[in-house]
Amino acid sequence: AVVVAGAVGALSEVMGDLARAAGATERLFDLLATEPDIRAPADPKPLPQPAEGAVRFDNVVFHYPSRPKDAALNGLELEVRPGETVALVGPSGAGKSTVFQLLLRFYDPRSGRILLDGVDIREADPAAVRARIGIVPQDPVIFSTNAMENIRYGRPEATDAEVREAARAAHALDFLEALPQGFDTFLGEKGVRLSGGQRQRVAIARALLRNPPLLLLDEATSALDAESERAVQEALEDLMKNRTTLIIAHRLATVLNADRIVVLDAGRVVASGTHAELLRQEGLYARLAALQFDQRTAGAAVV
Ligand code: ATP
Repeated sequence: AVVVAGAVGALSEVMGDLARAAGATERLFDLLATEPDIRAPADPKPLPQPAEGAVRFDNVVFHYPSRPKDAALNGLELEVRPGETVALVGPSGAGKSTVFQLLLRFYDPRSGRILLDGVDIREADPAAVRARIGIVPQDPVIFSTNAMENIRYGRPEATDAEVREAARAAHALDFLEALPQGFDTFLGEKGVRLSGGQRQRVAIARALLRNPPLLLLDEATSALDAESERAVQEALEDLMKNRTTLIIAHRLATVLNADRIVVLDAGRVVASGTHAELLRQEGLYARLAALQFDQRTAGAAVV
């Protein structure tokens, strides 16, 4: 409650890093009602059932409040159909994380609309929007509590058995059971420090517990050890099954597995297609692919 004084938009701006913002999503959304610009409508439109996690950005223009002259999104058109996996790629500053921030309604567009399951998210209850979205951030937050509670954070009413099942599906059971006190082991700054790949699998387990129709995945840029790399990749593939997924992709394996790749540059879509199609165009994507994708993970993708 200490942060209530600042606008939520400003807060997430100060935090900058989407990972931190995502870690605090629950609390941020609780605060949204107090933020003058981003508030729940008096008579919110219900989101349709069943939840499909369909996304549409309809000519979205957005400027961060601190940089009113620079468009972070400049007429973005993006559609993700139910069950589809779309990989977002683009140079630094292209607007990839901004897409996530707006979907989570940390900010509202200056113009254009963002639809979730056909409803303009400004007309829906922010809590209902949030309930349909799961996030796996690049560098997930691990709380100062035990492993069981760290995963249960994804869905506080989950039973111990459900938490363990999510950990298993996230390929995290082996390393968690091997901790000194297993699931009772205290994690975080004053506890056992997890590796990057292990933190990601904890975040995947949280997301599995939530079981959201729409998944936002910000893939790690840093290389993981080979064993974690494989475990994380397999866990992500399971997580993405049967749901709509939007990924900020850094791994070759990920773009090869995506249904579609969307290339962003300067806040708009400049190309879209499969990896092979985009390479043939010899444009921005081909240059990015050569520079950006960690070639060491290519093997996992072509099996
Ligand atoms: P990267 O790959 O480096 O993470 P990105 O494609 O995710 O880049 P964004 O972070 O969405 O790009 O940034 C889009 C534009 O908005 C950039 O010009 C960036 O400098 C600006 N921007 C991003 N976050 C903020 C913020 N919190 N406040 C002000 N400007 C921002």
